[in-house]
Amino acid sequence: MRPTTGEECQDGRVSIDRKLFEAVERLGAAIDAALRRFAVDHGLSLLQAQLLETLGEGTPRRIGDLAAELAVSLPTVSDAVGSLQAKGLARRVPDPDDRRGVLVVLSEEGERLAALARKTLGPMLTAAAEVPEKDREIALGVLLRTIAALYRMGFITLDRSCFTCRHYDPGGPRCLLLQMPLRPADLRVRCPEHTPAAAGD
Ligand code: SF4
Repeated sequence: MRPTTGEECQDGRVSIDRKLFEAVERLGAAIDAALRRFAVDHGLSLLQAQLLETLGEGTPRRIGDLAAELAVSLPTVSDAVGSLQAKGLARRVPDPDDRRGVLVVLSEEGERLAALARKTLGPMLTAAAEVPEKDREIALGVLLRTIAALYRMGFITLDRSCFTCRHYDPGGPRCLLLQMPLRPADLRVRCPEHTPAAAGD
């Protein structure tokens, strides 16, 4: 019998875990490729376009958080923010919660370009629209649980989703902070109110 690897079932078929991993990898590559095309069309690097997309959510971010969220080094993200500033697309403002801290926000022109990026990538968001809502809800739960596991394993250094949040009550399930039930479709991926759960929670 042919020896199996961790990626294969006993009978030699590729495991569901491996297929999930490959499917997510494929999606990530497609999104990156679309964002890269947008970036080239607008004289940006891929990282600058990712920063526009992230900051376009409306929540100001510290440089360190941006670096962790986009999985790049501090100097790299700092350089990219500097380039966005030089292009008039972003600016640094004082952090109201930290006297010595600085937050990055988009300028008006940056907001306009971020909205254009969302519009350009919009058709990708509805690619699964014909899949029954129940199945999409299950998929969201599976992906968020996988992200939470990767976060606990140290492969993801910053996460803002419900399953790694101190305010998530699995008994409800509900959000203890916002005092609302969390149905599968309510789970958040990038929640501005997210507070990391303590280790062991
Ligand atoms: S604060 Fe946000 S991330 Fe945390 S449980 Fe509530 S909705 Fe989810």
